[in-house]
Parts: sequence; C-alpha cells; structure tokens
Amino acid sequence: MYQPTVGQPLSGLDTPSMIVDLDLMEANIKTLFDTLLPTGRNIRPHLKTTKSVALARKLEAAGAKGCCVAKVSEAEVVARAGFDDILITSPIIGKLKVERLVELFRHHRRIRVAVDSDVGATAIDAALAGSGIEEPISVLIDLDVGLHRTGVKPGRPALDLAHHVQRLPHLRLIGLQGYEGHVQHVWGHEDRKAQCLESMKILTDTASALRAEGFTIDVVTTGGTGTAETCASVPGVTELQPGSFIFMDTDYRNAIGAAYANSLTLLATVISKQGERQVTIDAGLKSLTTDSGLAECRDARYAHRNLGDEQGSLSWEEGTPELRIGDRVEMVPSHIDPTVNLHDFYYAHRKGVIEEIWKVDSRGKVQ
Ligand code: PLP
Ligand code: MN
Repeated sequence: MYQPTVGQPLSGLDTPSMIVDLDLMEANIKTLFDTLLPTGRNIRPHLKTTKSVALARKLEAAGAKGCCVAKVSEAEVVARAGFDDILITSPIIGKLKVERLVELFRHHRRIRVAVDSDVGATAIDAALAGSGIEEPISVLIDLDVGLHRTGVKPGRPALDLAHHVQRLPHLRLIGLQGYEGHVQHVWGHEDRKAQCLESMKILTDTASALRAEGFTIDVVTTGGTGTAETCASVPGVTELQPGSFIFMDTDYRNAIGAAYANSLTLLATVISKQGERQVTIDAGLKSLTTDSGLAECRDARYAHRNLGDEQGSLSWEEGTPELRIGDRVEMVPSHIDPTVNLHDFYYAHRKGVIEEIWKVDSRGKVQ
C-alpha cells in the first residue's frame, strides 16, 4: 500500500503532493518572531493558512500567544487538539453556527469572537442565555478599516454597536478587530505602508472614541503578512494576526519581496510530451488555485499554463534543458490558503528527506 513515511526521500512521494522545505519554513517563522516579538505586541497567528494543528504548535513554540481561525468549524478542530485561546475572526451568523459556538464555549472559555452587527451579537447572547453558562464570552467589535468585507463602519455605527454589546449580559466587550486585507498585496513597501497607516488610523481613532465613551478596549488586533511590521509600529495596536508568512505564495512574493521565502511547493510529475519544448504535468485546478494567477514553476525557465482540472503545461525557450516524461518539478502556489485546502497532507522535508508529515486538519472546514 502507498504510504509515505518519515525518513524517505521525496522520490517516495506520489504526485501531486504538497512539500514544505523545513529550512525555509523555519527561517520564515524565525524572521517573523524576531521582527515582531521585540515590539511587545501579542502575536496571534491566523491558522486559516495552514489549517494544521502541528503547525499551530510550532508557532506557539516560537512565541505565539493564542491563534486566530476564520470559522467555527476550524475552531472546533484546534480546540479538540488542546488549544483554548482562539479568536474566531469572522462574524458567526445563523442558529446552527451560534449553537456550535455555544457548545465550544461550554468547554473552552477562552474563545473570543468578532461581531459586526446588532443581530449577530444579540443571537450569541440569546443562545448563551439559554445554555446555563454564566460566564460571558469575550467579544471584539469587528471594524471595517477599508476592506469592506466585514466590520461595522467606523464612527457612530461602531460606537452604537459597542453600546449594544455592553447591554447584553452574556457578552463581554474586550476590544476591536480591524483587518486591512485590501492592503496586504499592494506592491512596494512605501505604498503598502502608507495605505496601512490610513487603516490603522481608523482603527486606533475608533479605539480612542470607544474609550472616550467609557469602554474598556484592551485588545486592538490587526495585521497580516504584508503589514504586520507597520501595524506593530502604531501605538495602540496590541495584537497581530499574520498567516501566510509561514509558506508564502507568488502573489505575496511579488508584493512584499523576499523577506519570507516560498517554503511550500507542489511536487508534480511530467506525464506527457507535447512537441519540442512543451510538456504536461499532473497538476491542474484540483491541486493549484488560480484566483491570484497561475502557480509558477520553481525553476523560472519553465512557463506554466493551466490545462484544466487535472493537468498543466510547462514550456521553455530554446537552449533550456528539456523536461522529459517522468521528471519532477516544483510548482509555487499563487495563493497559499485556498491551495492548502485542496490537499490532505504536507510532506515536510530537509534537503530532500521527509522529516515530518502533517495533516491538513481543517481541510474543508469552511462552516
Ligand atoms: N486576519 C484576518 C481577519 C484574515 O482574514 C487574514 C487573511 O485573510 C489574516 C489575518 C492573515 O493574513 P495573511 O495571510 O495575509 O498573513
Ligand atoms: Mn489568502
């Protein structure tokens, strides 16, 4: 039976398979924590990227305090694995989800949630009221700092929501979340920094306005891979929630440069020759996402083109060594989070020898 094991060379892996270069990944983790820990900010990495308990543990060992997840179902996975300090960063809407949240909170009292509407806050409060749980759940007001994805608008709407939350006995307001996702992929450090600072002004001004109305705002959480350093330079920001830095992707590399390496690639095999300077690989839309453009071959001399669900094509200029049937290539994903969600396992290697195998524990946990 096919069962890759630790200690085998990468040639023991069937393809396509996600492989992680441990030296590069460990350097990414070290760079992030070396940069951000001295700023005194809490680092609460977003696990939406890796969806892996093993990697959550590595981040904790490096200095992370708590973690973020996007969805309740992801929180269930990490809670079951022993993590309790979990921030669910998306609004939790709908009876079924709220019930799942309450059951989670019953056993994991350090879970915190983001709310961006009266309706959402009221539903969580009502479910807790009927649960027999007396302790209130910790709540962050999710603020729209320019992404226009979730978040209450700054100014009066944010203040009104805070007053609403404060009137609900089963919710305890602890702070603000404002994720500037629209800024992460702005090319060039200066432009990205300037736009990030605009978002941070909205965030910290709102924190000040809330404090002026008597609210205790202990947590101001924000930041992703492209902005965490800038966010950490802003007085009043207490917490950072980067995710992609651990693996990176071509989109992020193009935007922010080489501070973090592309540590994850998809190992693929050449399965067909299509003329002099073109071959077909066994990786298509089911193993590499294309929302942020096409994945790139690690060896930039080979140009990638998608050929549908299961395959892709690599072609090259004259003079470049030819790829032959059976050869293996590494493809660098264009957008890491949804690519990871297409796979069951990571094969982590050092210099080509598999050292660890991690499950994508929260694969498909999108609820
Ligand atoms: N915080 C929130 C709310 C997010 O949605 C994301 C990613 O989409 C992150 C943090 C992590 O950002 P990144 O993967 O760009 O580091
Ligand atoms: Mn993403």
